[in-house]
Amino acid sequence: MSDPHQGLARPPLSGLATKIILFVFLSTLTTGGVVSWISIQSTHTQLERALDRAYPAELAVSAEDIRSLLKAAEHELRRHARNPVITRQRSNRLAPLSATAARLLEASDYFSGLAVVDRNHALRMAIGAAQAVPSEVLERSFPKREGDGPWALDSNLDAHGSVIAVPIVTGTRRLGALVGTLRPSVVRAALAQAGPPEADATYLLDARGRVLVGAGAGEGRTGLALDALVSGEPGLRDYEDVNGRQVLGGAAPLGALGWHLAAEVPFERAFEPVMKVVTQTFAVNLAILLVFGFLAFSITTTAVKPIETLSDGARRIAQGRFDVEIPEPKRHDEISLLTRVFNDIVRQLRRKQIEIDSTARTLRERNLALEQANEVLSQLSITDGLTKLHNHRYFQDHLTREIKRVGRVNEPLSMLIIDIDDFKSLNDRLGHAAGDEFLSGLAQILMNTVRETDLLARYGGEEFVMLCSNTDLEGAYQLGEKVRTAIEDASFILDESMRPMRLTVSVGAAQFDGNRKHFFKAADRALYRAKDQGKNCVVADDPNGML
Ligand code: GH3
Ligand code: MG
Ligand code: MG
Repeated sequence: MSDPHQGLARPPLSGLATKIILFVFLSTLTTGGVVSWISIQSTHTQLERALDRAYPAELAVSAEDIRSLLKAAEHELRRHARNPVITRQRSNRLAPLSATAARLLEASDYFSGLAVVDRNHALRMAIGAAQAVPSEVLERSFPKREGDGPWALDSNLDAHGSVIAVPIVTGTRRLGALVGTLRPSVVRAALAQAGPPEADATYLLDARGRVLVGAGAGEGRTGLALDALVSGEPGLRDYEDVNGRQVLGGAAPLGALGWHLAAEVPFERAFEPVMKVVTQTFAVNLAILLVFGFLAFSITTTAVKPIETLSDGARRIAQGRFDVEIPEPKRHDEISLLTRVFNDIVRQLRRKQIEIDSTARTLRERNLALEQANEVLSQLSITDGLTKLHNHRYFQDHLTREIKRVGRVNEPLSMLIIDIDDFKSLNDRLGHAAGDEFLSGLAQILMNTVRETDLLARYGGEEFVMLCSNTDLEGAYQLGEKVRTAIEDASFILDESMRPMRLTVSVGAAQFDGNRKHFFKAADRALYRAKDQGKNCVVADDPNGML
């Protein structure tokens, strides 16, 4: 028996266990992924909100400190502006002015350079870092500025950093302006303390957002444009800094000068809690995945393995192999019940198979006996019981076939009718049994005489017939002579007297002319003539009179 399942190669990942494990794996992964994504997103959003509140607040607090510093610097500058030497500046007395300025500078906490510009826009004096400031910048500090100051001089910052100016006043008269360049180290030290603790760069920005002084990672970035921080809505911005790092930046105004305190916090530091959540959720997800994967694996192995064993067993049964006995699992669940039922079915199948085999064997034997009996019957139905020659019925069937055949091949076909001479008197003298004995002996002689291609039959009573294939009338006549002579020469012991008996036959011969009825009548007619001519002779029905 061929296995209907054999040709079905299992496509990869089609096994039940694989499907269950894949399902658990994917569903755990998806659920974990979605939950993680939501928690990361919400952490991120919350953190963003918290940072939006916290950083500006921290910047505002720090801005207060820087503002105090700038106020203190301004006070010092105003104090110097009130110094009599500075207020009494004379074009011909510059030396005492410079000496006083140098003394004041030496004692200054906030300034590294001082310059005096008179009411005629002329630079009267510059010392320290102020000497590096171009005179046209310094000269612009007065008198274009309105009000009481202080004013910020914020051009060409790369060269001279932050510069502020206050008016020199006596009574109500403005005599000029005192310019001071802020000591960068003092500002930087204050900036280093400013901003949120996570900030790694802090800046003092001018009104246009250009860096006056930078601290931390921002040190040395004087002149850098951070205008986005001071324009538009207040709040945090994220952008790439000069080194291409993603940062979160914010700025707080510092008051009269129009300057700002700004701070930059690297993204990874600002969102460190989110990264922590990402790492934690990844670790938790991985752990859940492993645990669920292992559970799915062990559950499916326990559940699916016995099903596979059952399926293998069923396949073997489909192949007609009933020697299957599946070990029953030591459990009390549906699978062990199924296994027990399966084994019961197989045992019953085995018993039935044995019964079927035995019945089939008996049937085969009976069939054989029937076939043999049938064969005997069939032989009997076409055989004459006494002589064992073919009977009249068989002769007729054979004649029909032969007539059809010669119709196709165009061969001659002839017939001999053989009749025992004076048989009645033999029966009368020796009895019917002796007559039968003679009929058997005669049949034997006839059988030895005919060719294999001829058909010999007992036509009825003591008449025999021979159908000779591929034989014309002359051939039939000669064969009739051969038969007649053989019988004439033979002697038969027919009774207890053991006296040999001799008998003769008369033979009528005819050739088939295409008409079945004519054929037989012609042979019978010839036999009749043979009897008429004195018996023990052969007569051919020869319409041409050749024989
Ligand atoms: P003829 O020479 O004219 O043929 O004379 P005959 O005596 O042979 O006459 P016929 O051909 O009519 O013979 C028929 C006889 O054959 C009648 C019967 O006694 C005998 N006969 C027919 N069938 C059997 C048989 O099966 N057994 C025996 N013993 N005799 C038979
Ligand atoms: Mg007869
Ligand atoms: Mg006869």
